[in-house]
Amino acid sequence: MTVTRFAPSPTGFIHVGNLRTALFNYMIARKSGGTFILRLDDTDPVRSTQEYADAIMEDLEWLGLTWDRVEKQSQRLDRYAEAADQMRASGRLYEAFETPTELDLKRKKQLNMGRPPVYDRSALALSEDEKTRLRGERSSHWRFLLDQQRIEWTDGILGDISIDAASVSDPVLIRGDGQVLYTIASVVDDTDMGVTHVVRGSDHVTNTATQIQIIQALGGTVPEFAHHSLLTGPHGEALSKRLGTLALRDLRARGVQPMALLSHMARLGSSDPIELCGSLEELIEGFDLSHFGAAPTKFDEADLFPLTARYLAGLPLEAVADHVAALGVPDQLAPQFWSVVRENITVLGDMADWWKVFSAGAAPAVEDEDREFVDQAMALLPQPPYGPDTWATWTNAVKEATGRKGRGLFMPLRLAVTGRAKGPEMADVMPLMQVHPKG
Ligand code: GLU
Repeated sequence: MTVTRFAPSPTGFIHVGNLRTALFNYMIARKSGGTFILRLDDTDPVRSTQEYADAIMEDLEWLGLTWDRVEKQSQRLDRYAEAADQMRASGRLYEAFETPTELDLKRKKQLNMGRPPVYDRSALALSEDEKTRLRGERSSHWRFLLDQQRIEWTDGILGDISIDAASVSDPVLIRGDGQVLYTIASVVDDTDMGVTHVVRGSDHVTNTATQIQIIQALGGTVPEFAHHSLLTGPHGEALSKRLGTLALRDLRARGVQPMALLSHMARLGSSDPIELCGSLEELIEGFDLSHFGAAPTKFDEADLFPLTARYLAGLPLEAVADHVAALGVPDQLAPQFWSVVRENITVLGDMADWWKVFSAGAAPAVEDEDREFVDQAMALLPQPPYGPDTWATWTNAVKEATGRKGRGLFMPLRLAVTGRAKGPEMADVMPLMQVHPKG
């Protein structure tokens, strides 16, 4: 059975970048009737918080990305310690004593000599006596002893990958303060939980290489790996610094609708067209990981708004009835109000402006040269209520009285009534006007 997981660290809010990871893993599991695990990578006790964990769940719920169970790494520390012991016993985990400053110095020296900054394994040469002495002086960390061969796998997105383990430092799995690091925790979890497919960002490719060896050292089964490209801004610029402002909760606050966001993120970077999907089922149905490319993927948040507008335009009143009622629209006007505004809003919040126009009148936008004409026209408009014929009757009367026609007749009146040059058909607007546009 297919088992996938989304494994965020609860050290911040999820943003469009990690949404892709979540979505791919979710869709793979759902498409094959498998299991989707939400795994909280919370081994860092300082940076991980319950607030962020709650926020991650809330954001996924908002999108309807349901998980089958939650796992927390902080509750599995014993398992990681066990796995570490197993690797110590088999000689694959070794103790090292360099301080961060010493390691930094080594790296700089290697770079100066034009060599790759790979850890030189000097800890392996320490005698037992030296180690005992060092233990009395400083803390030690633990590194995984890589087997210096090529590590190869067929990536679900990147194709055939081959990485020379000799070009990679033996990864630190346990820090000096005893904290177990993600590299081992993730492997132990993936193995214990029977994870069959791992999709994550291409910044994890080197991790994957080392993790494949760790999985093998622990006797686990290597899952299928796929690494999706990272997002850039619309012009190819790095997005990493801006991701903080592209948190899902910010997009939600700005009115982006879940289906618009999901439709966009589930296809962006693939050869499939981005179309508004009506449901998650439809998205899952059309999802194919092999259609995604390795090139960095341009993301422009502006693209989310036309999709949101299209989504809203297709909604029946029942879907937004609470929002409409909250504006103070009387029940009997609600169907008409929604059918008129839904094609003329980008986000739900735009409805409020239209209701203000209909219920209280707009600040009229009248050009100087139209002032007299508009005054004359307003005098010809009776007080509300207005009906479906009001616009035709009124504009005919105004045409007769002033001789104006076409755009010169209609546009100043639209501007005077709604305060806007664009909007719904005026014949539909008039019956919604609760007040005479002149006040
Ligand atoms: N916590 C890791 C991250 O957010 C998970 C990576 C993985 O999927 O293994 O980068």
